[in-house]
Amino acid sequence: MNHFAYRDGVLHVEDVPLPAIAEAAGTPVYVYSRATLVRHVRAFREGLSALENPHIAFAVKANPNLAVLRVLANEGCGADVVSGGEMTRALAAGIAPADIVFSGVGKTHAELVQGIEAGIGQFNIESEEEGYELSMIAQRHGVRVPCALRVNPDVDARTHEKISTGKRENKFGVPLDRAAAIYAALAGEPGLEMRGVAVHIGSQLSDLEPLETAFGKLGDLVADLRAGGHPVTHADLGGGLGVPYREGEVFPSPAEYGAMVARVTAGWDVRLSFEPGRVIAANAGVLLTRVVRAKRSGNGPPFVIVDAAMNDLARPAMYGAWHDFDAVEPTGERMTAHIVGPICETGDTFAMDRDIDAMGPGDLAVFRSAGAYGATMASSYNSRGFVAEVLVDGDKWAVVADRISPHAIMDAERVPDWL
Ligand SMILES: *Cc1c(COP(=O)(O)O)cnc(C)c1O
Repeated sequence: MNHFAYRDGVLHVEDVPLPAIAEAAGTPVYVYSRATLVRHVRAFREGLSALENPHIAFAVKANPNLAVLRVLANEGCGADVVSGGEMTRALAAGIAPADIVFSGVGKTHAELVQGIEAGIGQFNIESEEEGYELSMIAQRHGVRVPCALRVNPDVDARTHEKISTGKRENKFGVPLDRAAAIYAALAGEPGLEMRGVAVHIGSQLSDLEPLETAFGKLGDLVADLRAGGHPVTHADLGGGLGVPYREGEVFPSPAEYGAMVARVTAGWDVRLSFEPGRVIAANAGVLLTRVVRAKRSGNGPPFVIVDAAMNDLARPAMYGAWHDFDAVEPTGERMTAHIVGPICETGDTFAMDRDIDAMGPGDLAVFRSAGAYGATMASSYNSRGFVAEVLVDGDKWAVVADRISPHAIMDAERVPDWL
């Protein structure tokens, strides 16, 4: 079931026609489908059905909206957080502290304290230095905190270089060849309860093979640690499963992923955790935008200038990413165009020479697959406001993040009286 479908020639999200949302909430605006989020979580869980009691911690950085997190919490998801701010959001959305995993290479002292005081379920330690600092703070609080050691398996995830995290030269985790020694050192720390290992090699992975290689290396480490006398009860396999951004692309399904995991981890005898982000949220949202105008460009295709820009959806400018672009009310006619935003940077380009539905000033369109790494990466560049977000549930919808106006942003600034 696709919850982003045309009915009587008008694109709907579930039972809501997008023109109604544009009219009431304005554009640009992100629109998420609750039914799609739920379907994706259930498909992911179903894919892991061969495993005993897997822990699914949604990677909050993919979409930290409180209402989205609440939908996922209601489906039994925990959270993978990478900052104190994300931890605050996960807790506010109703996710139990015990179901929260705290990842991240630069957790500050204040964030470690925040995690300990909240009683979160697991710290994924990314360096020996972080482990000692965490232990010291934990002892001061009179507790031992549950921890996993994140290892860097030196595997090429074969994804965009900016979202690859498991190569030796990346900043994440501890090198595999030092992992056992660091684990042993940290296991001697009175503030830490070392209980397992973690790995996350990157995002938008189109191939299961690098994941399988990384998990295999993690399994060898688990065996080494056990041989060294360490009880290992948990392993966190991270996120990274990719999604199709272009119609017709095929990616490994959660079922194929789950079957691979079950095969590779057979006999590990640990509780497995997963940190999916994109695979849950990306195709559960669109960015709804309106054409400002179409501009001729010499002999080339026209520029279709939309009211969304790189500050609202950064992926095309940042990673050269593709988002399908469709009219909300297509006429059946087609055109070739460059699709750009209004920002004063050539990087503010969503697509060049794209075959799209014919459209002109005032027409509505969507960038698809915008539910992950969309609104959360927004900025106010060019003194544009922060984009609004809407959640649809059947024939109901609600604004779940207000548009933040350029005025409100300016209100937080001060001109000192000595100027
Ligand atoms: C970003 C991230 C994830 C989620 O990645 P996806 O590709 O969105 O599934 C999971 N774990 C960690 C540690 C991350 O940094």
